[in-house]
Amino acid sequence: MPNRRNVYFFHPKNKETKALVSPLIELAKQYDFHVVDNFDSANIIVSIGGDGAFLQAVRQSGFRDDCLYAGVTTSDQLSFYCDFHIDETDKMIEAITTENIEVRRFPVLQTQIDQGTSFYCLNECSIRSGVIKTFSLDVFINENHFEAFRGDGMIISTPTGSTAYNKSVSGAVVDPLIPCMQVSELASLNNNNYRTLGSSFILSAEHTLTLKLSNDNNHNPIIGIDNEALNARQVDQIQIRLSDRQIKTVKLKDNSFWQRVKRTFL
Ligand code: NAP
Ligand code: MN
Repeated sequence: MPNRRNVYFFHPKNKETKALVSPLIELAKQYDFHVVDNFDSANIIVSIGGDGAFLQAVRQSGFRDDCLYAGVTTSDQLSFYCDFHIDETDKMIEAITTENIEVRRFPVLQTQIDQGTSFYCLNECSIRSGVIKTFSLDVFINENHFEAFRGDGMIISTPTGSTAYNKSVSGAVVDPLIPCMQVSELASLNNNNYRTLGSSFILSAEHTLTLKLSNDNNHNPIIGIDNEALNARQVDQIQIRLSDRQIKTVKLKDNSFWQRVKRTFL
């Protein structure tokens, strides 16, 4: 990584993690990296923890596309966004000393609530009823009405998020080389008034999905962007599309997406 020298380590600032991270800081210094204490001046951001920590590192640093992200796991198993185990320093040295490092790019979603700010999502955007009752929404693909949903909620996932929440509701696992988003239902109620496709569907980067909430039973739904809940009251509509932005991570050998799928689930 000859052009990237500024590293930021993203980790919970407690005693245990500090002890785990200090050998990595020493290693980075030994290989002439500058360990910075502000992620804005970093061009490599390393998260320590699991996938949840990686999602937070990407979110808190602002979904930078001029930055290389790397996930280091502290648990026994490698997870989806974590290519390195905290003890595998030889693998880290190999990655940082390779001249032309290969980079993987992950599609990201852009979510806009009403006319407000946009949020990026690396795993998914989810919307769920905040109460024990169902809520309903109309689903539009571009300007066209597609289905009338009533039930618990919906999950709109990225390809890398397809192995997370989306998979738990029988959504398909999608190759991250395909820039797309997958829409999956949470317990839809189907009758003569409300009718949904019933299966997950996948939209290309050309399309925008709009979820219009009806006012009568909009009981403050819970909107999730990856592992964070949005504090949104009285939402009328949510627009979701694929962003131009992508998240870059180091590509290692023997650790393709499908190898990770096999390792985790089969
Ligand atoms: P969590 O409750 O600890 O996450 C649930 C599990 O999902 C953890 O084992 C986590 O791995 C794993 N995970 C996260 N992203 C993944 C991915 N892209 N592919 C495969 N597994 C993944 O919460 P969290 O760690 O903050 O993760 C947030 C994510 O949890 C959300 O974005 C959502 O996708 C998922 N989630 C799943 C359900 C469900 O399946 N019923 C419900 C809510 C949320 P680590 O242990 O390495 O963190
Ligand atoms: Mn977790």
